[in-house]
Amino acid sequence: MKIFCVGRNYVDHAKELNNPVPEEPVIFMKPKTAVLDAGQPFYYPEFSKNIHYEAEVVLKIAQNGRHIQSKFAHKYFEEITLGMDLTARDIQNKCKEKGLPWEKAKAFDHSAVVGVFISKDKVQPISNLEFNLNKNGVSVQNGNTANMIFNFDYLIAHISKYFTLNKGDMLFTGTPAGVGPVEIGDLYEGNLSGQPVLTCTIR
Ligand code: ZN
Repeated sequence: MKIFCVGRNYVDHAKELNNPVPEEPVIFMKPKTAVLDAGQPFYYPEFSKNIHYEAEVVLKIAQNGRHIQSKFAHKYFEEITLGMDLTARDIQNKCKEKGLPWEKAKAFDHSAVVGVFISKDKVQPISNLEFNLNKNGVSVQNGNTANMIFNFDYLIAHISKYFTLNKGDMLFTGTPAGVGPVEIGDLYEGNLSGQPVLTCTIR
């Protein structure tokens, strides 16, 4: 399996990092080894001093496909959850300055924290889904999928022009404003449409 991620898909987050609002989706990938399964702790790695949480709605791809038309894209995912796209911001900033690829900042082991997947039928309408991330009991990120620059169907159509989607792949759909550093001892809890789906402690 593979993990697709979308950068800068919420205007408020693009602005908080002083990035331009994109005209087409910014896509990057993480390998299978990046997955940190639901409920597992994240161990802070020695190579970074500034790892950020980014709460994102995550789709699980339900069937293989390529060149998917956006009107059929909804057939390609059945399950949805919340995840954290953990980002070594210090490394990413260096990569950006030099115009280098982001893998070391974005695709490292356990950088894709995934919640428990639930049926998308339980959280309709998915085009207007609230989600939030709490850090140590305090809300730090609040988003709504209605504020995505590129919606789920558009993303699936766009990505599948370049990459074959396979059953089991995941799509992290971008983070709203409010990202910040994680610290050892933190507890993160995420809710999707009021349902608790994500928990992660930092060790
Ligand atoms: Zn992200």
